[in-house]
Amino acid sequence: MKGIFITGTDTDAGKTVVTQGILHALRRRGGNAMLSKPVQTGVRQGVAPDFDTVLQNLSISLPAEHRSALLPFCFEAATSPHLASRLEPQRPAPTVHAIVENLRQAETWYDFLVVEGAGGLYVPLNDTETMLDLAAALDFPTILVVRNTLGCLNHALLSLEAIQRAGISCLGWILCETTPPQDGLEETIRRDTRPSLSARTTLPCLAEIPWQNVSETLPLWEDVPETLLEMLTPIPPTPPEDLLPFDRQHLFHPYTSITAPLPVYAVSSARKTTLQTVDGQALTDGMASWWCAIHGYSHPHLVSAIQQQAAKMAHVMFGGITHPPAVALGQKLLEMLEQHLERSPFEHIFFADSGSIAVEVALKMAFQYWRKQGVENRTKLLTLRGGYHGDTFGAMSVCDPVTGMHSLFQGILPRHYFAPRPQCRFHDPWQEADFHPFRQLVEEYHAEIAAVILEPIVQGAGGMWFYHPQYLREVRTLCNQYGILLIFDEIATGFGRTGKMFAMQHAEVIPDILCLGKALTGGMLSLAAVLAQPKVTENVGTLMHGPTFMANPLACAVACASLELLQTTPWQAQVQKIETILQEEWTPLAQLSGVREVRVLGAIGVVECADDVPVAAFQQFCVRCGGWIRPFGKLIYLMPPYVIQESELRDLCQIVRSWCENL
Ligand SMILES: *Cc1c(COP(=O)(O)O)cnc(C)c1O
Repeated sequence: MKGIFITGTDTDAGKTVVTQGILHALRRRGGNAMLSKPVQTGVRQGVAPDFDTVLQNLSISLPAEHRSALLPFCFEAATSPHLASRLEPQRPAPTVHAIVENLRQAETWYDFLVVEGAGGLYVPLNDTETMLDLAAALDFPTILVVRNTLGCLNHALLSLEAIQRAGISCLGWILCETTPPQDGLEETIRRDTRPSLSARTTLPCLAEIPWQNVSETLPLWEDVPETLLEMLTPIPPTPPEDLLPFDRQHLFHPYTSITAPLPVYAVSSARKTTLQTVDGQALTDGMASWWCAIHGYSHPHLVSAIQQQAAKMAHVMFGGITHPPAVALGQKLLEMLEQHLERSPFEHIFFADSGSIAVEVALKMAFQYWRKQGVENRTKLLTLRGGYHGDTFGAMSVCDPVTGMHSLFQGILPRHYFAPRPQCRFHDPWQEADFHPFRQLVEEYHAEIAAVILEPIVQGAGGMWFYHPQYLREVRTLCNQYGILLIFDEIATGFGRTGKMFAMQHAEVIPDILCLGKALTGGMLSLAAVLAQPKVTENVGTLMHGPTFMANPLACAVACASLELLQTTPWQAQVQKIETILQEEWTPLAQLSGVREVRVLGAIGVVECADDVPVAAFQQFCVRCGGWIRPFGKLIYLMPPYVIQESELRDLCQIVRSWCENL
């Protein structure tokens, strides 16, 4: 632990008494602890009331540089920070980011920081952030100071709930009497606070500070309990409860054997772009958890969407019932398609519980479409080599027959038609010849083909391959000509990853059926959607599919929240920036002998090595360097959360560069 965040039920709850007491006790023990007051209001002639009083009382003097990092935002008006800063527009407004930067600097000078918030947790820091956001970003445990008076049970319980909901650790609470008791009833109320609060929270009472009649200066709280100080002693992170042995013996992980598995790393929490391992390491995430976590981890808007929906209705069967999150998400998706495709023909939506199931549903729609019309022989699909559509049997049957699992399930999987992977690259001039093999297959087998399914522009897990938009236009024309349905699997590419909201926009081609998934919920829950044009669905009849968790309200609610973030954040500029940095950092790698090719599109960067990347050794190397990157085959790739900072992304790129330079 490098610090503690002291917050209160209220302004004047007694935070500064506690802060001063803890600081004094820690320093008396010989530690190099220091005080920070990220926002101090009521500052006149350079004197910060609480901050300077504490330093004076404890005879601490500070270099100017330290003072400005520990006390970064001062305002004259003794009001809430947001208002105080608005009254002094010439000064920079406080932000969580700026405060955290200052305190990270201060952490290098001191071994422990006692950080005192302003007012209570929901006190606004600026127009969009609160003290609670600051506490979360600092990632220090909190102590809640409760002003012991009438009404404090409510304030204390609300504050503790807010802390716990934000995923912030809380050591407990301290009761503080800040005024002399007026009468006997008041004394009774105060005596009742501790037992009544203890009965309603599992968090411990750390101390009680009685009224001390010191009017002029801040009274010094002398008897800080040893148990509290023990909790604060800078100690290495608690040794993790060892997760790995049970995991190793009992749990399957993706695409690995249970008897001789690849190594796994234990991660206990994740915030923004950082994964926190149980043994205390922070890893910058380059994978967005397989395309999903586009807004970063633990985004408060997404967390709160789930919390609110969970408290109302986590799930209800979709058979014969509908609910607000499903309708809202349906509306949002149709609006979003309308906005990005100019005129969207999609009208009907099936909410599936994962990408693979969305693909199954799309295929089922296509097959039912022909059966319903009495066409019995359209039982085949046409797709591209190098594709990936999921791991269920229908989806597997259209995955690349070599890198996919066809050999493993030979004789079990239905056999479909595969055109070669498009050769003409996204950025290259179009080559007519690239489309010939596909055209030939259609001309020869169209009477058997129910649908074409492919990933537009970017083939993801089948090889991270970017191909020419004209290919899709040719596919669309040919499908129209032979009445073949066209399915786009945008499960990986949807929601901005390629630089457009949907990859099909690069080609201005619209399929008959569209699959979305992965980033749909911002990586919070499993959900996918199949969108179809009425000309398809009107001929499908009763669609024989209905997963138990179809249109799960939690997943729909958080998907709505994620789409809201896409509407309100500059994702396009962020993706553009990631593309530029990936190009700058990685283009030179193509010269290295161990590297075959480098390709970048939108927020996707790929280094194709000459040989297979040894997964275990590569991951160990990355983790040692503080990055989370998972290669497959010959490919090392990055597709980070859109909110990744430039320095974080450059560090990830550098890790890959060091690896490749030693190949
Ligand atoms: C991941 C993926 C799927 C499968 O989605 P799951 O949610 O893992 O079942 C299907 N198609 C594409 C293009 C994908 O990237």
